[in-house]
Amino acid sequence: MAKKKISGGRIGVTTENIFPVIKQFLYSDHEIFLRELVANAVDATKKLKALAASGECKQELGDLKVRIVLDEKKKTLQVIDEGIGMTEEEVDKYINQIAFSSAGEFLEKYKDQIGSIIGHFGLGFYSAFMVSKKVTIDTLSWQEGAKAVKWSCDGSPEYELGESDKADRGTVITLYLDDDSKEYAEKGRIESLLQKYCKFMPVPVVFGKEQEWKDGKWVDTDRDKVINSVEPLWSRTPSEIKDEEYLSFYKALYPMNEDPLFWIHLNVDYPFNLTGILYFPKIKERMAIDRNKISLYCNQMFVTDHVDNIVPDFLTLLHGVIDSPDIPLNVSRSYLQSDANVKKISTYITKKVADRLEDIFKNEREALNSKWDNLKLFIEYGMLSDEKFCERALKFVLLKNTDGKYFSLDEYKTAVEPVQTDKDKKLVYLYATDTEKQYSFIEAAKNKGYDVLHLDCELDAHFVNLLEQKLADTRFARVDSDAIDRLIPKEDHKAPEMKEDERYDLENLFKAVLPKGNDYYVTGDRLGSEAAPILVTQNEFMRRYRDMSALGGGMNFYGEMPPSYNITVNLDNPLVEKILSDEAAQVAPQGELPPEADEKASEEEKKAAREAREAVRTAHRSDIEAFAGGNDLLHQIADLALLANGMLKGKDLAAFIERSQKVIRDRYAK
Ligand code: ADP
Repeated sequence: MAKKKISGGRIGVTTENIFPVIKQFLYSDHEIFLRELVANAVDATKKLKALAASGECKQELGDLKVRIVLDEKKKTLQVIDEGIGMTEEEVDKYINQIAFSSAGEFLEKYKDQIGSIIGHFGLGFYSAFMVSKKVTIDTLSWQEGAKAVKWSCDGSPEYELGESDKADRGTVITLYLDDDSKEYAEKGRIESLLQKYCKFMPVPVVFGKEQEWKDGKWVDTDRDKVINSVEPLWSRTPSEIKDEEYLSFYKALYPMNEDPLFWIHLNVDYPFNLTGILYFPKIKERMAIDRNKISLYCNQMFVTDHVDNIVPDFLTLLHGVIDSPDIPLNVSRSYLQSDANVKKISTYITKKVADRLEDIFKNEREALNSKWDNLKLFIEYGMLSDEKFCERALKFVLLKNTDGKYFSLDEYKTAVEPVQTDKDKKLVYLYATDTEKQYSFIEAAKNKGYDVLHLDCELDAHFVNLLEQKLADTRFARVDSDAIDRLIPKEDHKAPEMKEDERYDLENLFKAVLPKGNDYYVTGDRLGSEAAPILVTQNEFMRRYRDMSALGGGMNFYGEMPPSYNITVNLDNPLVEKILSDEAAQVAPQGELPPEADEKASEEEKKAAREAREAVRTAHRSDIEAFAGGNDLLHQIADLALLANGMLKGKDLAAFIERSQKVIRDRYAK
């Protein structure tokens, strides 16, 4: 049919030719054109339904669908709806005036920062020109007596408006794909875009036909292939949804994931509109955390899966869907964070998450206990990173002990208070980070009637610090941070007095047989004749800060220091007594130190005096080291202590085994 040109004109934008600009600046986001066009088609359909519902439109509507039709050969892509359509005046108003002037405004507004705009924008109809050399609109308004209109534009600011042969109500947008946008002329590409952006749109979106297996190949049936689910789970009433439905929705979103632990259905319409479902995934270790698994929708239209500016950081560990028309889309990311609505939404979600967890704590305690190990990293991370969440979480956070029992903070306090309060009225919470390595310490603590917590999560060093700030008069000590009697001191403990040279000898004697590269702080103490000769412990704070720095927490100073250990020599132990008395008998006491230089002496004289004194000390230390080197008993007890701490390795371990075999041989085979 011949088309009569009835009018033409220039599109009202100031930029001489807007399309190259659009293409260039929004390059990375070309694919969203399809979402924008389908969203317009869905809107037009919903508007018609609304008119029918109000009685304004009396036509029989039937099953309204949006169709996507691709012609791979001709390289055209059509978005077809049966919605309200447009009259000529409307095309002029909405397309020529508004759509294109808003394009101009958009560019005007963002011309300085266009490069920095990432993300997704409601670009509207004109985004079609990002991928097309020509776009036509054929449309017939629902209004009685309306005439079909054809609008066409080839990317220059000129358009044509004329008659169309379109006979049925609705709109057909036809894109003549650009040579450099041929990828959109592929069925697979369009299919995946529809999957990504249109999977939950509220009107059926049809692309091609359902296929079936016939005579050895896949063939089209005559059934339309609908790519979306028009009533996604989050848009339904929570009380009517079964658990299985929540689980299968999760599986549909993340087919590769294990089942989630819990979920929250968000549903609010004042002071902003928000629906959604958030799932708590199983998190086992930090390395395995999957971020960006929350998708943001706007009225069931996919917007992005980067919600990091909308929810607090720790909530990005959750999975699921948020749908809100109140999150502004046409703005830059930095603006988003300061937007008042976004702030409210973020606070609301945090509160809902805390409410839900508290509810689980109160009403589903068994489930919480059994799922805690996989939830804990999320909660601890939330507590460490979000002050408000932390205050709430103190009520429901759980502690697990080495017997696999779970306690709330209040419950734990009540349980250990009678036995684990020290002489200064401070509660001491004992913990182990590795129940294998710290086995002997854990046993010792249990024998004493103490309880030991099991804190094996990577964040625990930071978490313990946090709890010490939050809980009054409570401190945490790892079971191997001191001798059992000193972990929770009940009365003032006084280390036995030792003379300066005794202390010097003791220190050098034991350092001589301990592995190099660590710092040792050697002291003598009276731990009873039955207790082990040597105890190796690690100062709680030094160790904790080292752990924290290993995780990256601005404590690098501690991370760079060599590991340091406390070596407690048990002076009551008969083996130690023997070693010390042998040493006293065999090693000559340190000779008299030459006098220190006079203050008036020259620099050279001072240096000479210092060296002379040092020579005496060194000579004595060499004597001690020679004694230590040849003392199998000393080596043996030191190695046993190291072994108890998992610190005996390589050559030293081999030497220990050989020496032990010799001891046994001497004892039994002679
Ligand atoms: P927006 O959708 O953000 O308003 P667009 O540039 O996408 O901006 O569209 C401009 C206007 O054109 C729409 O508001 C609508 O009135 C009209 N329009 C676009 N597509 C259709 C369609 N498929 N059916 C009916 N009207 C449409």
